[in-house]
Amino acid sequence: MGLIVQKFGGSSVANPECIRRVAGRIMDMKRKGHAVVVVVSAMGDTTDDLIRLAHRITNAPSDREMDMLMSTGEQVSGALLTMALHAMGADAVSLTGPQAGIFTDAMHRKAKILGINPKRISRHLRDGHVVIVAGFQGQTPSKDIATLGRGGSDTTAVAIAAALKADRCQIFTDVAGVYSADPRIVKRARKLDEIAYDEMLELASLGAKVLMSRSVEYAKKYGVELEVLSSFSHAPGTLVKEEVKNMEDVVVRGVSADKEETKVTLSGVPDKPGIAARLFGRLAGAGVNVDMIVQNTSAHGLADISFTVPAEDVVKTRQVIRAAGEAVGVKDITLDDDIAKISVVGVGMRGHSGVAFQMFKALAALGINIEMISTSEIKVSVLIKKSLADRAVIALHKAFGLDRRRRSPGRR
Ligand code: ADP
Ligand code: ASP
Ligand code: MG
Repeated sequence: MGLIVQKFGGSSVANPECIRRVAGRIMDMKRKGHAVVVVVSAMGDTTDDLIRLAHRITNAPSDREMDMLMSTGEQVSGALLTMALHAMGADAVSLTGPQAGIFTDAMHRKAKILGINPKRISRHLRDGHVVIVAGFQGQTPSKDIATLGRGGSDTTAVAIAAALKADRCQIFTDVAGVYSADPRIVKRARKLDEIAYDEMLELASLGAKVLMSRSVEYAKKYGVELEVLSSFSHAPGTLVKEEVKNMEDVVVRGVSADKEETKVTLSGVPDKPGIAARLFGRLAGAGVNVDMIVQNTSAHGLADISFTVPAEDVVKTRQVIRAAGEAVGVKDITLDDDIAKISVVGVGMRGHSGVAFQMFKALAALGINIEMISTSEIKVSVLIKKSLADRAVIALHKAFGLDRRRRSPGRR
């Protein structure tokens, strides 16, 4: 008997049948004597639909109103799941993020959780209720509702598990766990039994959206062991946990692709101290997350600077960089969204050389041009044309020996 936090993603609660099935799984846990807190995402593509709806009204909706709108999705699925549990005879109650005591900063659309007051959740649990919490949302210091960024329900679940010191935090999704690459792109990707927090953090922030990267950061900080598993089967999933010694035996654990970045190139930038600080200071001030940066010094005291930003920050980036570029005398600005960032990740890279070389060689064999490179202790990332991303991921997965073996003939 213990306390379990279970999070169900959008596809797991996509329609009334799915919601009833999820309710059934929660009932199984209750019957085993566990106390259960459930975090839900919005049904299916609801969040995307709400964003599209807003853009039919205006191109520039305010972030606060977008949060008012988007946060409704999780309240719908939470209420419906609670009704399904009632229909099965269970005591259950649904709560919004603010009702559940989730406090965030005021950065609408990408708010960070500052703290959780789990008093109300604990009270309902003591009364024997299943507590259903709307994921992806919390309350700002001025008592407004804020959302946590796309995929944010994962973070809600981990934060609640940490605050309640839960025995287990299970993230139910539409694939059987964390794979060596997106199983929808790489048919021979392997399901991993376990993965270190640091590897998962890199993969998640480099495009593997199976977990939101902030949820992994939170899990690592508070030592919450995560289990990622399918809500459509009962197969064991993947454990995301503290690194143990034999994890370094594998050099590359996974390959990821991020197709939602844009490359910005500033040409003819004065090559003088303080210019980069001014340009990137403005971007930071506007809350833009700059990723890869490359500078080439050219003749006549001028340089070219290229960097990448998430696609969702492009409108802001364009505004800020036009103004800042003019002020420092940049000659030309171009934006290119036909790019993808491909990465190989593994804690075993710390003790091995030659990973970058092997990656470049595999891409060269396909005739793929590399536009930018960045590395850390446990990853190598390259920027290439978006149309070549899937081919590159499949080839790298094979080159690093990650492909699942073919089944021998006669075996099914
Ligand atoms: P949910 O709605 O349950 O939060 P998401 O769509 O956010 O689900 O994340 C699950 C998806 O992540 C999978 O359907 C899969 O296509 C994708 N994905 C990308 N990389 C990986 C990976 N390395 N392992 C598993 N899934 C991955
Ligand atoms: N519904 C939100 C989204 O689509 C949050 C989540 O699913 O985690 O991003
Ligand atoms: Mg998700």
